[in-house]
Amino acid sequence: MTGTGLLDRYGRRAVDLRVSLTDRCNLRCSYCMPPEGLPWLPKAEILTDEEIVRLVRIAVTLLGVTEVRFTGGEPLLRPGLSAIVTACAQLANRPKLSLTTNGIGLERLASGLKTAGLDRVNVSLDTLDAQRFHEITHRDRLPDVLRGLTAAVDAGLTPVKINTVLLRGVNDDEAPALLTFALKHGYELRFIEQMPLDAQHGWNRSEMITAEEILAALNTSFDLSPDPAERAGAPAETWLVNGGPAKVGVIGSVTRPFCGDCDRTRLTADGQIRNCLFATGETDLRGLLRSGAPDEAIADRWREAMWGKLPGHGIDNPEFLQPARPMSAIGG
Ligand code: SAM
Ligand code: SF4
Repeated sequence: MTGTGLLDRYGRRAVDLRVSLTDRCNLRCSYCMPPEGLPWLPKAEILTDEEIVRLVRIAVTLLGVTEVRFTGGEPLLRPGLSAIVTACAQLANRPKLSLTTNGIGLERLASGLKTAGLDRVNVSLDTLDAQRFHEITHRDRLPDVLRGLTAAVDAGLTPVKINTVLLRGVNDDEAPALLTFALKHGYELRFIEQMPLDAQHGWNRSEMITAEEILAALNTSFDLSPDPAERAGAPAETWLVNGGPAKVGVIGSVTRPFCGDCDRTRLTADGQIRNCLFATGETDLRGLLRSGAPDEAIADRWREAMWGKLPGHGIDNPEFLQPARPMSAIGG
């Protein structure tokens, strides 16, 4: 495998790297974390800014990665975020750089991140109602998120995409209102099916709002037609809204899995490679890094990790096991 990109035995090539910068968060979304939070990773196990940049450099220069998305936990909580983005933007073969955030603090940070080299952001927003926001996230921060969205557009971190998870009996009646809001402000809205990745293991397939239900709800207020643009490995299936050019996306990770086209590789904040969100195993790069291994040895370990990627997540298999780490620690 030496000298190749991140191939797996089913012919997929990972070019999209998700980097989790922290497992900590300032919200407690019910589908992700328990209200009391989680035992955070010890500081000594978290990669330093320099270690993260070195791994991104290896991914970009030796392994064919072309896109890097920073996530978490809440990546805006990482003090070195701006320095990490600056260093990654200066790499040879500069990758596309984006960030997935809950938007808290974005108002203050957006313009500096753009200057550092960030290309765009995804902001998570599940409701426009302050009381529901509290019910879902256990915090009263809706105004911060809305100001963060505005700041992202003003800073040119565009297209700004919104990620929404619908929960039965909580915000499942809000799909049309969220799309109206997104259209008004020029945000690209994408709904994500809830996945079994919460720390509490409370996910229940029959409770999940499916892609089909989301589309049915949107169709009551909008005319959706298939987007002729090529999907090209993107997880979201997109539809033109009222003839376009505005679009809406639905990521049917559970009911419409896209594993056959998956092009992702994941690095956790403590330096583990995961070849899939749902992988039950991880490959340690932190130990190699800290033992003084050369770039090629690290690249080889990364290639091996990806070669073992399974063909699909298997959520529908009776023997499916939820990964030990929750979404916030893997990096969503
Ligand atoms: N804190 C940031 C945020 O919320 O955008 C980044 C990390 S968060 C884990 C990344 C994305 O994963 C968010 O859009 C969130 O809604 C989504 N997410 C978290 N848990 C999920 C679950 N169980 N199923 C589906 N999406 C989930
Ligand atoms: Fe935090 Fe994002 Fe998880 Fe919500 S989804 S608790 S914002 S990491």
